[in-house]
Amino acid sequence: MADDRAEAIARFIAPLRVEPGSRVDLARDFDPRYRAHLKKRDGAELLRTGVELLAEYQDRLAAQDTYGVLLCLQALDAGGKDGTIRHVMSGVNPQGVKVSSFKVPSSEELDHDYLWRYNLRLPGRGEIGIFNRSHYEEVLVVRVHPENLERQRLPEAARGPDVWKRRYRDINRWERHLTDNGFKVVKVFLNLSREEQRIRFLKRIDLPEKNWKFSAADVRERRFWDDYQLAFSEMLSATSTEWAPWYVVPADRKWFARICAAAVLVHTLAGIDPQYPTVGAEARKQLRLVRRDLEDEAPPGAEADPYEAEHGKGKKRKKKGSR
Ligand code: ATP
Ligand code: MG
Repeated sequence: MADDRAEAIARFIAPLRVEPGSRVDLARDFDPRYRAHLKKRDGAELLRTGVELLAEYQDRLAAQDTYGVLLCLQALDAGGKDGTIRHVMSGVNPQGVKVSSFKVPSSEELDHDYLWRYNLRLPGRGEIGIFNRSHYEEVLVVRVHPENLERQRLPEAARGPDVWKRRYRDINRWERHLTDNGFKVVKVFLNLSREEQRIRFLKRIDLPEKNWKFSAADVRERRFWDDYQLAFSEMLSATSTEWAPWYVVPADRKWFARICAAAVLVHTLAGIDPQYPTVGAEARKQLRLVRRDLEDEAPPGAEADPYEAEHGKGKKRKKKGSR
């Protein structure tokens, strides 16, 4: 990718990045309606560009087979995680993407340490993994509803008032370990306003084709809005690191949130700048020998190398005579 495009993307997402070590107050620092002066009609073109760049990078990431990328998506209900994943990943090869959704933990999952189930779903080298909800639920819903912590049956020493601080530390170290071993971690929080959430819930009630998405439990969860805002603010303050930064994406306008999420992923891949593997002189010599054999197998009248005949600059060799 041309450097100026990479720089433009970096500038575009800079205001969304949580500076490592900063103290975040979500309501004060991030506006869910921010749109960087863009208009919706410019949005479609920008998203298309982002999706194209992603496809190009993903191809190189897979070919190089050395690095992987993990995108963690967090949001409140109706924040738009599903739509973001669908749109942002619309142009990429499905073989190179692995989406994992995390729900209420099963009894088997509760039988292990709290990071276990996330470990099992990490992307491999050459892959982009997306966590639809992630290990951050362990310092969000588990914190807002302490009965979730009870269910984890922790030993005495792993509980207590500093449990969240210790979890932030564990998570930072785990992400550091992944980064050091070739897996770049990037985190997106879709920041929805309380009013926009109310409107989206109402829409799910008003439109029959959206009724299936409506959940009374989600509406009940609104009562804990302030607790969540505090848990999000502390999580962002404690776990945005140089190696695995958080981006707070304004989510009240879906079209803008999707552009931002695509830009964050493109920026992350640009940082890796994966390259197609090249072969050495000896391997190239082997390729030329095999090519000669294949050319010799051309049936009468056929181009020795049809691909080169159409695209290449080299000399054409047509098979003469009959066998
Ligand atoms: P959608 O509603 O779009 O299908 P979703 O991610 O909201 O997506 P749900 O099945 O509705 O999926 O909800 C999953 C629930 O699981 C959420 O309420 C979430 O808070 C909860 N959850 C996720 N991880 C944990 C965890 N570690 N402990 C307890 N609850 C969790
Ligand atoms: Mg839900």
